[in-house]
Parts: sequence; structure tokens; C-alpha cells
Amino acid sequence: MIEGKIVTIGEILVEIMATTLGHGFLEAQTLIGPFPSGAPAIFIDQVGKLGHPAAIVSAVGDDDFGTVNLDRLKQDGVDVSAVAIHPGAATGSAFVRYRPDGGRDFVFNMRDSAAGRIDATPEAQAVLAEAGHLHVMGSGLPVPAVFGMVSASIPAIKARGGTVSFDPNIRVEMLRDPAGKAAFQTVLAATDLFLPSGEELSLFSGEADEGRAIAALLDAGVQEIVLKRGKAGASHFDRNGRTDVPGFVVEEIDPTGAGDSFGATFLVARRLGKPVEDCLRYANAAGARTVTVKGPMEGTSSFAELDAFIAATPVGAA
Ligand code: ATP
Ligand code: MG
Repeated sequence: MIEGKIVTIGEILVEIMATTLGHGFLEAQTLIGPFPSGAPAIFIDQVGKLGHPAAIVSAVGDDDFGTVNLDRLKQDGVDVSAVAIHPGAATGSAFVRYRPDGGRDFVFNMRDSAAGRIDATPEAQAVLAEAGHLHVMGSGLPVPAVFGMVSASIPAIKARGGTVSFDPNIRVEMLRDPAGKAAFQTVLAATDLFLPSGEELSLFSGEADEGRAIAALLDAGVQEIVLKRGKAGASHFDRNGRTDVPGFVVEEIDPTGAGDSFGATFLVARRLGKPVEDCLRYANAAGARTVTVKGPMEGTSSFAELDAFIAATPVGAA
């Protein structure tokens, strides 16, 4: 492992959410937002809050939604020098409404927004040239320039002793597209730390059984796998075996962002040299804190906040 910033590439969005449970947006209703959002942005905000050097390569419009995001990321210590501001383009947005069954309906404006125009600007290249670690978020890979930067910077980062983590964050449709599948496989082949949740593990390994899926990924060269299990916590796997840490018992208000905060926290704790079990505990705490607050980035945490939360919150059954 080398020193240096944790860098991620991908979408910055605002999230605007319905205040009532129900199906979609076919009638006028009360909404709350804009909240800063976008999986890579939530992830990097959490890295910044933990005091680790952090930067994001992205793009926003020249509008209030962009400002909301840039102000938050700067406030939390993230280098936003590689976030391009496109005059005349709108910052990306996601309208979300939770269904009574826990599902979600979305209206996305991503591809046609500034987030669809992320590009390898000189500022982006400068940030990537100094990265000690690259975190790849699968949700951004369908943007060709994002995948272009990811695939170009991985060999350079590895050549100087840096590392790569990968949170697939996928919708199944992305893997049905042959180009999408190839992009995911390219990243996976270079991944040191893989952070899947739920069915993502079997989608990637082609093995339905959890143990066989883990073995296949370790054999393919992934160094560490952390499987996120929602309220049940998380498990870590490497060549030496497995470590399971149960989740914290909290009231879930808004699940969005849990996986992103979790991944950032595990990664930072690991880079600080903490034992795996402590890293999982901190990451579970970060994920659990995120779900107790409305808004995907509103529950990101400093180490002091995580320590206080861990001291005060019961742990679920193992
Ligand atoms: P996302 O919806 O952000 O993509 P994910 O599917 O990647 O999430 P999850 O497993 O849902 O990841 O959540 C990540 C972590 O957050 C879990 O491993 C757990 O530590 C914590 N977490 C999530 N939901 C809850 C909950 N309801 N109660 C306690 N902890 C939770
Ligand atoms: Mg996820």
C-alpha cells in the first residue's frame, strides 16, 4: 500500500424524495430535497469525513444543485478540483419514492445531465496521477469516459504500488449488455478489495453458492472480499479465512447510501492498519448511521461520531 489520496470517478447528483410511501410520481405530491447524492459522491464524502485525503473526478452544472454538492464535499474535506462545472448543463438528479414493500421508484436525470459528460480533463488526469488508491463504483461505468479513465489509470496506479477497490453497485441490466459485462470484468480482474452486496456476489462469480463464489473470486486474484449483508452486518474473506461481524440495531429511515458509507469506512480503516474485525465494526457503524437519517449523504460520519455510535448502540444477533 502507498500513501496518497483515495480517488473515485463518477456521478454527482441531487436526490429529491417523496415524503409519503407509494408508487412513483404520477400525481402531484410533497417532496423534500435537494440532498447531495450520487454513489461515488457519498463514498468520497465519507472518506473525507474520516480525515483521509480524498478526491472525486466528476461533473456538475452551473446551478444550485451543483453548488449544494460542491459545498458539502468541500466542507467535508474532499478535493473537488477535478469536478468540472459545465455552463448550461443541469446537475444530475434522482427523484425517489419508497414503496410500502421497501422497493423504490426512481426518475433519473443522469445521462443527459452534467454527470453524463464526465471527461478526462487535465484536472482529472492530475488528480488520478497522484492517487494512492482508486475506488471504482459500478454505477458510473456505463459512461464511456468514466470507464476510459478507470481502465487507463488502473495500470498506472498499480505500477506505483497503489490499490483498487470495486463496489459493483449494479442493476442487473448492466450485465446483460456485453460491453457493460466486459467493463465489469476488466475492473474485477484488477480489484484488490471487492465490496459486493446481496446477489452481486453470484452475478460476478457465476456461482450461486456463497462459499464457491468467494473461492472463485479469490482464485481469480481478488485479495479481499467484504460482503455487505444489510442489517445483518458484513463478512470479510481472504486467503486466511473469514470474519463475520453482526450489524447494529437501528430504526431504518432511509437505506440509500448505506453501502457507499460502509465501503468508504472499511477502506479507510484498513488503510490505517486496523485489524479486519475493527474495520468491519466501523464500517457497519457507518452503514447503520446512514440509514437512520433522511438523505443519502446526511448520515456520513467522522471517527468520533462512529466511536460514540458504537458505544451507544446494541448489536444484532450473530
Ligand atoms: P446500497 O443500497 O447503498 O447500495 P448495499 O446493498 O450496497 O447498499 P447494504 O448491505 O444494504 O449495502 O448496507 C451496507 C451496510 O450498512 C450493511 O452491511 C450494514 O453494515 C449497514 N446497514 C444497512 N442497512 C442496515 C440496517 N437496516 N440496520 C443496520 N445496519 C444496516
Ligand atoms: Mg450497494
